[in-house]
Amino acid sequence: MLDVLRHLSADEFVSGEVLAERLGLSRATINNRLRAVQPLGLTVYSIPGRGYRLARPVSWLDERVLTAALSGLGFHLRLEDSAESTNSQLLAHAMHGLPHKSVLVTEWQHGGRGRRGRPWLAPLGSGLTFSLLWRFNRPLAELSGLSLAVGLALAQAARALGMAAGRGNWADGVRVKWPNDVLHDQAKLAGILIEVQGDALGPSAAVIGVGLNVRLPDEARAAIDQPVADLAAGLGQTPERNVLLCHLLAHLDRVLRQFEAAGFAGMRAEWEALHAYQGSDVRMAGVQGDVLGRVLGVDAEGALLLETPAGVRRMMSGEMSLRGMPF
Ligand code: ATP
Repeated sequence: MLDVLRHLSADEFVSGEVLAERLGLSRATINNRLRAVQPLGLTVYSIPGRGYRLARPVSWLDERVLTAALSGLGFHLRLEDSAESTNSQLLAHAMHGLPHKSVLVTEWQHGGRGRRGRPWLAPLGSGLTFSLLWRFNRPLAELSGLSLAVGLALAQAARALGMAAGRGNWADGVRVKWPNDVLHDQAKLAGILIEVQGDALGPSAAVIGVGLNVRLPDEARAAIDQPVADLAAGLGQTPERNVLLCHLLAHLDRVLRQFEAAGFAGMRAEWEALHAYQGSDVRMAGVQGDVLGRVLGVDAEGALLLETPAGVRRMMSGEMSLRGMPF
């Protein structure tokens, strides 16, 4: 299906006959494949006698371009047309000796996951979904601040693109949210899912999954149960996805090398300066009930420090979800 889509443009119609000839397929097969695209979140116009046109431009990922751009940084990239979850796939291969800095990126992730199995929605062509395998010399216990470090890298990458701050509120612009989100104007721009392997004394390996919204269609926004943001709205233009992926991986490379050298402690102040809820009153929602308090910051392990009537509480990321308080 992606082979057919890669031959379409948003500027002009391409006839079924031309597509059939270019791809060595029958016109009926072309038609069937393009019909199957609609439920994946990408609109293709079809007009009898004229052919097919994309409703909006999509910059498809190109494995050769990406490999050429990223091998200098030591990344080993693989692009797959579809994957249920890039994290699950990379995690399975990591056990069989996949090298450090392997990246799996997919055009169509149909079973993306957030924390505790919550879904990550990424309609075809609307964002970037990829996972990166990073092998650390550190023991597992020292990776607890990793999701914060990755959030920092992505937030810095989005800021470097020039994302605007919308409504003038202190928490607006690109910010991190403890423990694993990146926000733009208080709406979710990117999600992170980290899964680790290793033992108490090290070394360890982390599969770092990232979902980033580039240009989300309205139907997808409506299907997500919280405010969402995308780069296209924040930048006033849609970034080219190959360039964007290289930009993100360059930022991740820098921050993860810093993490390997000095742990989360070395970037804690930078993270707090970007935290959307630094100094704010929040509700921490957990299975054993809610905890209310004011965010003091994070510690060297990435745990959230919350000032509560009963004293300062230290929240570990596995247990709790941070929610803002209504004004
Ligand atoms: P927490 O604060 O506990 O991390 P969360 O709601 O951010 O809570 P995650 O597990 O990090 O949860 O991410 C999954 C959630 O992200 C989904 O339940 C959904 O609300 C939201 N979501 C799914 N797809 C997208 C998307 N493309 N863009 C923004 N948000 C999304």
